[in-house]
Amino acid sequence: PQGKRPDGQDRIAQTDLQTDRPHSARVYDYIVGGKDNFAADRETAAKVLADWPGLRTSMLANRACMHRMARYFAGLGVRQFIDVGTGIPSSPNLHEVVQETAPDARIVYVDNDPIVLAHARALLTGTPEGRTAYIQADMRTPGALLGDPSLHEALDLSQPVALTMIAMLQFVEDAQHLVEALVAPLAPGSYLAVTIPTADLAPEARRLADEYTRSGIPMYLRDRAEVERLLTGLELLDPGVVPMPRWHPAPGDQPLPDTATNMYAAAARKP
Ligand code: SAH
Repeated sequence: PQGKRPDGQDRIAQTDLQTDRPHSARVYDYIVGGKDNFAADRETAAKVLADWPGLRTSMLANRACMHRMARYFAGLGVRQFIDVGTGIPSSPNLHEVVQETAPDARIVYVDNDPIVLAHARALLTGTPEGRTAYIQADMRTPGALLGDPSLHEALDLSQPVALTMIAMLQFVEDAQHLVEALVAPLAPGSYLAVTIPTADLAPEARRLADEYTRSGIPMYLRDRAEVERLLTGLELLDPGVVPMPRWHPAPGDQPLPDTATNMYAAAARKP
């Protein structure tokens, strides 16, 4: 069956996986064509895709936006990254994109799902000059996340980092306090990058969020003003809070209409 791994890693985490319930990482994995998902995940995916087949395009655009953001920060000279809510590995992962330009970059991946932990090996393939680490932590306890000893072994928080929260803040009701708590301890010159679901763009977004919520994955949408408010106290980078495909499209990118994705993208610098 799908979700079974030949190396036995599946058994290690089996006790915690709750495969009878849909999980965000696995629903996402299924929709973008991965193999690490179970019947309950596929059922939820089938429901949301039946209503909005374009969700796959939107999720792939999210992944592509993460790649552009990673490349952008590497280009700005950032050499430390914290990726909160990594998801099931899907190449290229953030460290692969960053270390292509900056082999000495150090990346800490964070997720709270044991299935991501089971696949963490695929995230730890960094360059010898750089470093990648994986920590299992919940973003809703930011103090514990940023206090994790493995994070401090890999990163020097007295120096700037890029904190990426890609397709993550829809899972929390109080995104404002979460972002503040995660950014407050970071050094001046650090960056925050988000992609964040909204009902402002794709007309299907509201129904999608309702279906996720019904299936046990509560999803909160935000309008543009709320996203701007999230970045209060930070210097918003060009081009601001924009429909995701408009965030620094790569040359030659086929432009998607604003209604093709349900997400805003934005990045900001901590002064
Ligand atoms: N950032 C990736 C994956 C997004 S899927 C991308 O955009 O491609 C969302 C991920 O967030 C899943 O892997 C899920 O396990 C993780 N996640 C959800 N709630 C979380 C929490 N409270 N703390 C840490 N990770 C969480």
